[in-house]
Amino acid sequence: MPEKSVLTRRLHGFGTNVFSEMTQLALRHRAVNLGQGFPDFEGPVEIKEAAIDAIRGGLNQYVRTHGVPELNQAVAEHQKRFYDLTFDPETEITVTNGATEAIFATFQAICEAGDEIVFFEPFYDSYRASVAMAGGVSRVVTLEAPTSPGGSFTYDPEDLERVITPRTKALLINTPHNPTGRIFSRPELEHIADLCRRHDILAISDEVYEHLVFDGEHIPLATLPGMAERTITISSTGKTFSFTGWKIGYACAAPHLSKALRTAHQFINFCNGGPFQVAMAQALRLGDEYYTQFLSDYQKRRDHLSDGLRDAGFGVLPTAGSYFTLADIRPLGFDDDVEFCRWLPEHVGVAAVPPTAFYVHKEKGRHLVRFAFCKSSEVLDEAVARLRRIQELRPGPASPGQGKAAGA
Ligand code: PMP
Ligand code: GLN
Repeated sequence: MPEKSVLTRRLHGFGTNVFSEMTQLALRHRAVNLGQGFPDFEGPVEIKEAAIDAIRGGLNQYVRTHGVPELNQAVAEHQKRFYDLTFDPETEITVTNGATEAIFATFQAICEAGDEIVFFEPFYDSYRASVAMAGGVSRVVTLEAPTSPGGSFTYDPEDLERVITPRTKALLINTPHNPTGRIFSRPELEHIADLCRRHDILAISDEVYEHLVFDGEHIPLATLPGMAERTITISSTGKTFSFTGWKIGYACAAPHLSKALRTAHQFINFCNGGPFQVAMAQALRLGDEYYTQFLSDYQKRRDHLSDGLRDAGFGVLPTAGSYFTLADIRPLGFDDDVEFCRWLPEHVGVAAVPPTAFYVHKEKGRHLVRFAFCKSSEVLDEAVARLRRIQELRPGPASPGQGKAAGA
């Protein structure tokens, strides 16, 4: 049966997820994979041991649907310790299957058919699919790419106001932002909070890169006046402790919001791995030295990759947070990110991600490529060495992937 005849209309156009496609290409061509955002190193050995101990100790059956009590408690402590936010572990914290499930469950919980969800493009690709699966409608506001190398992504606050309608149910932000590496500033967050309060809409704040802020400050939206009662804060232990495959995420929100989210969550996956939850409770409680070292290691990786990309001839955009760097491919004579990313693994031996996967208005990001720098320094060295050869490996004028300017 042809796929279209069985796939629900809600999912038409979503195709194969870009991360799977690029990781497959990387494997096929033995390329250095700077595409999908997962570390090539592991988190603390004692956290691994804690999960193994929990398995040996018999924590091998279903656990409580909203999280093992230890982890709910550890998340509450983490929110207090870093942001002075108070959440009741029993009624305001829900453990989910990564941040991805928290996002999905949120939309399942809050969307009536036709409800509008506002967020910025480029966006983590699961947002739009999750809104669609919940019967909602995505309304995107563009973060405009900088026109000069040192500039950052900007948006017009009036665009954000204009996109809000009586059908707007929630406004979703992601800070630090994937894929731009941008951090939302306090004045921006104040404006967003003001809109939410004025129009009585919910806020969803995806903060999975909260501990990866190199320039500036991470400000959780829920800390702004009047926002605690209307914000669902979503995060994930995968990034901070380098165990992305364990998929331990969580959502923190006022009791009425958490109750709604849990109603959806219990029927999506009921619960997730108990041993990983216990281990992550221990991870969240690691001392300040862990978090400081984590950040300084990543700052070195960011600089390593940015410098290497610059040497290779890319136009490198600044990364204030997250573990991604965007680079302009036009200085190298390319102008189509998808063609570039399909060409790169085979011919240069490096995999990346085409950011247009994260845009509705594809033309806004076609000149960019996203590289992940959550990799060991040897791997970054190898990637950079290969990328330096791009100019000589570049296809001829008529070949796909080469920019019109250079090819004409
Ligand atoms: N939000 C953003 C912005 C992300 O980049 C990602 C993926 N790395 C997630 C959510 C999903 O996190 P998780 O792997 O915990 O589902
Ligand atoms: N969020 C990760 C990234 O942006 C990947 C997550 C996934 O593979 N779904 O690379």
